Amino acid sequence: MLKFVSNKGGGQPVDIETAILACYAPDGGLYVPEALPTVTYEQLTQWKHLSYKDLAFEVLSLFIDRSIISAADLVSIIDAAYSTFEKDDVIPISKLSSRSDTYIMEFFYGSTLSFKDVGLAFLVNLVDYFLARKEERLSIIVATTGDTGPAAASYIAGKSTLDAWVLYPKGMITEEQERQMTTLHHRNVHPVGVYNCADGGDDLDLAISSLYDNREFKERVNLSSVNSINWGRIMIQTVHYFYGYLQIADSIGEELSMCVPSGAFGNLCAGGVARMMGLPVKYLIVANNKNDCLHRIFSKGIFSKKPIHETVSSAIDILIPMNFWRYLYFCVDQDATKISNWMEEFATTGRVDFDHETFSSYAHGFLSASVSDEATMETINDLYELESYLLDPHAAVAVTALEQMREVIGHHKVICLATAHPSKFPAVIETALNVDALPSEAKHPSIEAAKCLCQRGYTIDHKHLEGGLLHAISNHWEQSQ
Ligand SMILES: *Cc1c(COP(=O)(O)O)cnc(C)c1O
Repeated sequence: MLKFVSNKGGGQPVDIETAILACYAPDGGLYVPEALPTVTYEQLTQWKHLSYKDLAFEVLSLFIDRSIISAADLVSIIDAAYSTFEKDDVIPISKLSSRSDTYIMEFFYGSTLSFKDVGLAFLVNLVDYFLARKEERLSIIVATTGDTGPAAASYIAGKSTLDAWVLYPKGMITEEQERQMTTLHHRNVHPVGVYNCADGGDDLDLAISSLYDNREFKERVNLSSVNSINWGRIMIQTVHYFYGYLQIADSIGEELSMCVPSGAFGNLCAGGVARMMGLPVKYLIVANNKNDCLHRIFSKGIFSKKPIHETVSSAIDILIPMNFWRYLYFCVDQDATKISNWMEEFATTGRVDFDHETFSSYAHGFLSASVSDEATMETINDLYELESYLLDPHAAVAVTALEQMREVIGHHKVICLATAHPSKFPAVIETALNVDALPSEAKHPSIEAAKCLCQRGYTIDHKHLEGGLLHAISNHWEQSQ
């Protein structure tokens, strides 16, 4: 049976159920499979025409032992997860007409209109399945830069096994995103708007880490998370790389690249893992906005923390791409001591300079770019004028990065990941298109409906976050026992 270990080397190997329910490894590391499963040319050929859901079943079966989840149960978890999506093919792909060899994989047909729905619809159902079987409940904390919060809240709403505390940096996400969390009226969802987050969403992660380190509290309220540290998110996200490749490549082995707007590197970590499993992706392209930690990692070999810039692609205003440590583990022959030392060095000094050998092993097959707001807005406007295709600001970061690197990449097919629906960012769209009234492509019925609903939630100043949460979560837990 495939076991899971911490990328920092501490603790014992655990099964997938334990890894997913715990989220963090006990030594503060990230869970990784002891060995990555591999996929053969023959398997890829057989999978060529599978639907997204059937492919998800095949890929997930490589990680999840049947003794933990039976085939029939896995099928129903996947079915239930994606039954709420607007499109049967879950993440449809379209081809741009005004740019050569450019495809857009659309991740915005889930209930909260972003890429986070694709991961969380599945992960929340999986966690609920495990908990129902064990007759247990969990308190979940997630932090958000705008999209994780709504998705977690939406899929957790009404689940009797889960309570969700959803933290967001007040004023640094759009009103539309905030309303997606605060207009749900389920008693098990608790939005928390946090004032004065100097470092945006990253600030929330720090407060959460100290709560996890409080063992008495953590055990008392059964604390966990479904954030992008959770292995379940990475595992399900490998599926869309397989799906995109198999849908668009004419034959297995064809050169094809993927371009991904990136923040915490959860999405691209999954892409890197899919390639290590045997998917023949040529380049994985890291598209950063002005918060370009990943671009520095992939172009200079430096992992460093810089002050935040507020940008038009706010969901990727992330300073510390935690999932890079998970990917790096596989690039250094699973040497947990190295990872542990680097993570320690970063925690104490805020910077790691990788040696040449490490840099060339992890950067192999990756390209990166940092895209300005101006260029992002121009791309939104261009594509809308040329072919009436409306990108959200994050998809626009990817399409712009691709355009800037097209010469290096060469002429083969590239799939850009469109990670959100434009209706979540109406102010940016209005400015980009230079219009007073939004076109219909920038509207969505669920966003319109949320405008007419009362909002509910907590607010707190960042400096009191840890204590405030401790109090609120403890109280709620006691009352609901
Ligand atoms: C979360 C998110 C991303 C970035 O994904 P990571 O896994 O954090 O790199 C990109 N675009 C949107 C719209 C998102 O919500």
